[in-house]
Amino acid sequence: MAKSKKRITRRSTAKKSDAGRRTAINAWEDDPGSGAVPISRPVPDLAKKPLAFSFPKPAPVPDQYHPGTSEFRYWTAAEALRRGADFWAARVPLTKWEVGSTLKVILDEGVDLNAFYDRKALNFFHGPSPGGTVFSGESPDIVCHEMGHAILDSFKPQLWGAASDETAAFHESFADISAILSAIQLPSMRDAVLKETGGHFSSNSRLSRLAEQLGAAIRAQQPDAVDRDCLRNAVNSFVYQDPIDLPSSAPASQLSSEPHSFSRVFTGAFYEALGGLLAVAASDPSHPTEGELLATANDVAGILISAIKQAPVVANWYAQVAGNMVQLAGAVNKRYPGVLKGVFVRRSILSLQSATSVQSLQRSMVGVSAVQDWSAEPLAKVAIPASHYGLDQPLIVETPSHARTFLATSAAPDASPIQPVNAVGAAQAFVDDLFNRGRVDYAGIGRPDAWIEHGQRRLRSHCLVARANSIYLERMLFDCGLCRH
Ligand SMILES: [Zn+2]
Repeated sequence: MAKSKKRITRRSTAKKSDAGRRTAINAWEDDPGSGAVPISRPVPDLAKKPLAFSFPKPAPVPDQYHPGTSEFRYWTAAEALRRGADFWAARVPLTKWEVGSTLKVILDEGVDLNAFYDRKALNFFHGPSPGGTVFSGESPDIVCHEMGHAILDSFKPQLWGAASDETAAFHESFADISAILSAIQLPSMRDAVLKETGGHFSSNSRLSRLAEQLGAAIRAQQPDAVDRDCLRNAVNSFVYQDPIDLPSSAPASQLSSEPHSFSRVFTGAFYEALGGLLAVAASDPSHPTEGELLATANDVAGILISAIKQAPVVANWYAQVAGNMVQLAGAVNKRYPGVLKGVFVRRSILSLQSATSVQSLQRSMVGVSAVQDWSAEPLAKVAIPASHYGLDQPLIVETPSHARTFLATSAAPDASPIQPVNAVGAAQAFVDDLFNRGRVDYAGIGRPDAWIEHGQRRLRSHCLVARANSIYLERMLFDCGLCRH
């Protein structure tokens, strides 16, 4: 196909600068499967600091290409990543990625229904779907999910290696929240969602449905692996349960301790909270404006970031982050803490006792400006028994071992507070789950006849590393939960 035919030239609002260069590209607002049409956006600057990206070369000439072309896919991924990274860079704030000043992006690594962040690059793939070939790097939902992993890793690096169901699940939740908040930065998206939901922001919408297209591709192969209308829907009714008591995997309709599944508890609470905060911040709660939605989303993003920063890495991480959010929200808007408490208590992420004590703690902390910074505090490495994994010596893992500044607890189904399991117990449960799901690459360590095999094509998130006569468990990547073969 001639290049000129790939470009949308007549219907677009393409402009040329004085030098004759195009200043706009076409991009998706959110997932290609959401039913949206491309919009015109300024040409993104991938080299912009502090969070620069390195894309495959040569870059297509900036222009307004048709969906379905590799040029369109390049620029829609670039636009979404620049928009999302600019959003987070201003709020964290960040001077660089965990991997350095530039993050590599591999737009199409081959056939797979997946995408992942591996501390080297953001990696995307293509795969079959009833509607044709699906490219994970074409979905702003998915690229902003993977970028969210890289953002969180850049300011809370201990979460990378922590052997803990809740911290691993939170990484997935933050990545989905990154996709949602990045989409909200588009004025046209805010207008569309408020119109679609009739002012009831917390109802199911294009914004809450994440990765519709890839969800459909996976559903065609494994109907119970994803939500019925997308990969994961932020509008859900999942309630916290201690992940230690959950199965290691389950159909999408049920909760399991698998990180993508369990992430939906926190994401659902966050999305519901955003709707509740919008209602109290809007001058007309039943008709919030797009400007009020943007301001509220930015408020809650700031509260979330601060809460993550000052939360010690512990086994019941959800309660720690939620408790910190309640504490911090009053400084932004006096009505915010009540809304957050209501949501987190309804979801059992905070017990009633914790929600109350967190607020009294908030009052006692008035005037205290010093915030505990855990960013440089390493996690304790502990040797856990590993003979049941087929290893003939203990396995050394990083445990969620930070000291607590206050005890926040989640709630059991009978509303009683759940006393958190100790750091070693949480790590052991997490590693059991990893081996159960076949997510660990033995890397030739141990006796092959004792290994637990799950097939060569299963994507591994962790690997074994032999060092100085010891065996360590190390994380290799966070994926976006599409790994189904
Ligand atoms: Zn992910």
